[in-house]
Amino acid sequence: MEDIGRNLETVREQIAQAAEGCGRKAEDITLCAVSKTRTPEEINVAIDHGVTDIGENKVQEIMDKFDSVKPVRWHMIGHLQTNKVKYIIDKVDMIHSVDSLKLAKEINKRAAAKDLTMDILLQVNSAQEESKFGISLEETEGLINDILEQCENVRIRGLMCVAPKADDPEDIKIYFTEVKEQFDQFGKIEHPRLDFQYLSMGMSHDFPVAIEAGSNLVRVGSAIFGERDYSKQTGNR
Ligand SMILES: *Cc1c(COP(=O)(O)O)cnc(C)c1O
Repeated sequence: MEDIGRNLETVREQIAQAAEGCGRKAEDITLCAVSKTRTPEEINVAIDHGVTDIGENKVQEIMDKFDSVKPVRWHMIGHLQTNKVKYIIDKVDMIHSVDSLKLAKEINKRAAAKDLTMDILLQVNSAQEESKFGISLEETEGLINDILEQCENVRIRGLMCVAPKADDPEDIKIYFTEVKEQFDQFGKIEHPRLDFQYLSMGMSHDFPVAIEAGSNLVRVGSAIFGERDYSKQTGNR
C-alpha cells in the first residue's frame, strides 16, 4: 500500500501553498480524494488521515465499496448514464458530471422518489476544448434555466471541468480562468435552488494551477493513492 498518510500531507501542503499564494485560505478548498481502482481498505486509511470527501467515476465502484467504507461524503465525478442514476441516488452527496437536461431530469425523478434534493455541478468545457463530455460555456445558461424550471429536487451548486492534458500546467491556466469567470457570472443568479459554492477543477497534475485560477474543490487521485492499475477497476458501468 502506498504511503497514503504521507502523500496526503504533501498534497495538503501544496493546497495550502497555492491558496496562500493567491491570498486565499487552505480551509476554503475542499480536497476530494479520488479513489477509483482503490480498495475500501485504502479508502479507509485515507479517511483515518482526515479525508472527508471521496470521488469515484463509476457507478459500479460506488456500489461495490459503499458498505465497506467509513462514513464520508461521496462524489460522483465521472460520466453518468441516465439508466444508472437510480443505483447511486441515495449514496452520493453530489454529482459533478451533469451535462444534459435529460440527465438532470432523471436525477430529479429519482431524487423525488427518495424524497431528497440532490446537489449537482454542471460539467463544462471551455471554448477551446473539444471533448466528449461537458457542455460548452454558451450552452450553460440555457441548461441552468431549464434545470431550475423543471427539476425541483435538484440544487445547482456550481461548475466542474476536466482540463485538457498539458505538459506544463501553466498552459491550461487560461482554461481554468475562463471557467472561473463563468462561475462568478452564473453564481449571481438568484434562485432558491441555485447556490453556487463549488468550483470543481484541478487533478493531481494541475491542482495548484487550478487553485490559483479560483478552484475551491480539487479532485486528487494518484498523488494520494499512487499510480492506478486499471485492471483492478470493477465492472464497466
Ligand atoms: C480520475 C479522476 C480524477 C483524479 O485524477 P488524478 O490524476 O489521479 O488526480 C479527477 N477527476 C476525474 C473526473 C477523474 O476521473
